[in-house]
Amino acid sequence: MKTIDDFNFENKKALIRVDFNVPLDGDFKVSDTNRIQAAKPTIIKVLEDGGSAVLMSHLGRPKGERNPDLSLKHICTTVADVIGVQVKFVEDSVGETAEQAVEALQAGEVLLLENLRFYAEEENGAADFASKLSKLGDIYVNDAFGTAHRAHASTTIVAEFFPENKCFGYLLAKEITAIEKVMRTGEKPVLAILGGAKVSSKITIIENILDKVDHLIIGGGMTYTFVKAQGGQVGDSICEDDKMELALTILKQAEAKGVQVHLPVDVIAANDFDNNAATQTVAVDTIPDGWQGLDAGPRTLEIFREVILKSKTILWNGPVGVFEMENFAKGTIAVGDAIDAATRTGAFSLVGGGDSVAAVKQFGFADKVSYVSTGGGAMLESLEGKTLPGIAAIIAS
Ligand code: AMP
Repeated sequence: MKTIDDFNFENKKALIRVDFNVPLDGDFKVSDTNRIQAAKPTIIKVLEDGGSAVLMSHLGRPKGERNPDLSLKHICTTVADVIGVQVKFVEDSVGETAEQAVEALQAGEVLLLENLRFYAEEENGAADFASKLSKLGDIYVNDAFGTAHRAHASTTIVAEFFPENKCFGYLLAKEITAIEKVMRTGEKPVLAILGGAKVSSKITIIENILDKVDHLIIGGGMTYTFVKAQGGQVGDSICEDDKMELALTILKQAEAKGVQVHLPVDVIAANDFDNNAATQTVAVDTIPDGWQGLDAGPRTLEIFREVILKSKTILWNGPVGVFEMENFAKGTIAVGDAIDAATRTGAFSLVGGGDSVAAVKQFGFADKVSYVSTGGGAMLESLEGKTLPGIAAIIAS
C-alpha cells in the first residue's frame, strides 16, 4: 500500500482528493469541521515537505450544474482556520484558469478548486475530465474515504494518469488499516456486532463476515426475523417474513463455520412505536400481540457485555435498539460502554457504516473506541467484501 509517507513533496504539487462535503448553515458557514480536521494531517505533511497542495472535493449534489449555494468558496476561511494556512480559491475545477492558479502556486501554499460536481463529467467518471484534472498536480493523493466506493473522475479515473505518482493520504490509509484489522489481521477472538433495522440491508455483510469472525452478535430490528424463523412469537415487532428462510440459512452457515451467534434473549417491548409507550421486559420469543421489541433487555445486555469483553477485535455496525428514542437507547449505550471497556483493556474496536456512527457520536463514545469510520456507504461496501474502486485505482500499477 503506497501512502503519502512514501513520497517527498519538496517542490511538488500534490493534487489531493479530500472529502470536504461538509454541512453549511443558513449563513453558508461550516457547521461541522470534522471532515476538514480529518484531512489536515495529509495537507500538513505535503506543506512541511516543502510542497504545495491543490485540494479538490465535491459539496452536496449540484448534479452537474453551477449552484452558487454549493460553491466551495464558502468553506475557504474555515479550511484556512483548521489547517492554519491561508487558502486560495479558484472558481473552476479544470481548464485554463485552474491551470494558471496551480502554476502560480508556491511551496507552502494551498489552493482549493471549485466543487467538482459542478461538472457532470465528475460523477460520470469521464476520462477527458480526469485527464484535465491530472494537469493540476505532480502527485495524486486520495484522502477521501467517503467517496472511495464511487468510480468518479476525481476519486478513481484520475489515478490512471499518475501511474507512478499516486498514493493514499493518511485518512484513507487509516480506514484501510482499520478494515484490514477486522477482516484479516485482527487478534482473535474477532466479534462483529450487527444491528439496525432490517436483515435485507445487512445480509451481504453478514454473509461476508461469517468467514472472518469468531462471534456474531445480532441485535436491533433484525432480531425478530431470526426469532420468528425459529418458531418464536414476536408480536408486532419489525419482521421480514420473506427473509425467514434466509435467517435460518445464515444460522446454519454460522454453525458450519464455527461462528457463535448471540441473539437477544429478552427485550424491552412497547405497545406503540413511541418513546412514551408502555413497556414491559419479555423473553424475545414470547412477545404478545400488540407489543413490539424496541430495545435489548437486561439479560441480553449482560450476555452481550460478556462476549464483548472477551473479544480482542470488535466491529460494530448498527444500533441494537431504537436509539433515537431515549427510552429505547439503553441497549445501544450499554453496547458502547462494553466496547469502551474492552478497548481500554487492549481490544481494537471499529465503528462504521450508517447509524452506528451517529449513535457513538450522540452518546460520547467516538473517542473511546479505536476508530470511527468517516465513510458510511464506503464502509458498508468494504464490510460486504467489495473492493472499492478508489482504493483499487491507487493499488493498480
Ligand atoms: P440501519 O440503518 O440498518 O443500521 O438501521 C438503523 C435503524 O434501526 C435505527 O434508526 C434504529 O432506530 C432502527 N432499529 C433498531 N432496532 C429496532 C427495532 N427493534 N425496531 C425497529 N427499528 C429498530
